[in-house]
Amino acid sequence: MKRGWLGFEDRLGPEQVVHLWHEALGLEAVVVVDNTACGVAVGGVRMAPDVTLEECFRLARAMTFKNAAAGLRHGGGKAVIRADPAMPPAEKERLVRGFARAIRDLASYVPGPDMGTDEVAMAWIRDEIGRAVGLPREIGGIPLDEIGATGLGLAVACEVACRHAGIPLAGARVAIQGFGAVGRHAARHLAERGCRIVAVSDSRGTIANEAGVDVPALLAHKAAGRPVASFSGGRAEPAEAIVAVPCEIWIPAARPDVVHEGNVDRLQARIVVSGANIPITAAAEAALHARGVLQVPDFIANAGGVICAAVEFAGGSERAALETIVEKIRANTEAVLARAREDGVAPRAAAEALARERVLRAMRLRRFG
Ligand code: NAD
Repeated sequence: MKRGWLGFEDRLGPEQVVHLWHEALGLEAVVVVDNTACGVAVGGVRMAPDVTLEECFRLARAMTFKNAAAGLRHGGGKAVIRADPAMPPAEKERLVRGFARAIRDLASYVPGPDMGTDEVAMAWIRDEIGRAVGLPREIGGIPLDEIGATGLGLAVACEVACRHAGIPLAGARVAIQGFGAVGRHAARHLAERGCRIVAVSDSRGTIANEAGVDVPALLAHKAAGRPVASFSGGRAEPAEAIVAVPCEIWIPAARPDVVHEGNVDRLQARIVVSGANIPITAAAEAALHARGVLQVPDFIANAGGVICAAVEFAGGSERAALETIVEKIRANTEAVLARAREDGVAPRAAAEALARERVLRAMRLRRFG
């Protein structure tokens, strides 16, 4: 029998669904606290004109699994504000502060940045209600994109995956789609570990060099606001060319659904480590698994950002955040790949089973009410 009113509920959650509506402020928002068995829920505040309740449910559940899979003392939640994030700054501040005041008593939810909100918005929220993660450095935040939290985690996930696939990390050829906060730090950390970064792309093109791109030089080139394809140390190709680059490790770090049934056959890597969220469709993931390509799913490999936020929330330092990312992503990637091998299932199925088991164990340890 189906439980609940909306069709999204199951044994795990959601625990609370709060609809916020304030006409004078023009505020329409929803907060879903999905599950707090592992600790207070942490999850981003998404601002967009077309966000839906269903999206909020799905994202809150994804945070429950991501936080549990990362081994954090946090449950999952999410907030959506239906508004245009490009509104004038003063108007945005008024709206975000109003949202914060409305969730003052919802102590089981700690907001973080997501699409349409940033560290400044988190500073407004913290100023109003005393809790938020993803804060500016000046008020105790650890700037996760600047320090490359997610890129570091990806490099660690690659190390573990290479061991499982029997491929030496040093000398492994790597292709990275996307050279933003995630992709560029992944390139840096992998180059430091002896990998050969044979291709990198951004939205405007690909730069390829079989001998290995000079990563520090490419970082400086990109930091000057230039597209990767105009870098002199390689061969320029169209953006889509990155999918077919011969390599051992392929890292999507740009957009969702970039590998799909139409192009999955062109992918030549032996390992895929996902930096972007849901970059590979379910059908393409199944096709890669059937071909023996080892995949580290997004919510395991790209958890560096949320681990960093948890360390920040606990009052830890930047150094502690980096150490925790290495320790947790190493252990979790190892556990997921070992379980996938033992159970003969795809790593995503193993990762979801592990996360669900952690949450259910935590739920059994709690008293209701
Ligand atoms: P970003 O905006 O800093 O960088 C995105 C990069 O992707 C840019 O270089 C852009 O040019 C490139 N890009 C866009 N479309 C492309 C295309 N069609 N082909 C090739 N490159 C393309 O974003 P980010 O913070 O690096 O995030 C990248 C992805 O990782 C997103 O899916 C994000 O949700 C996910 N993610 C980010 C973090 C984080 O810590 N920032 C954590 C977990 C997941």
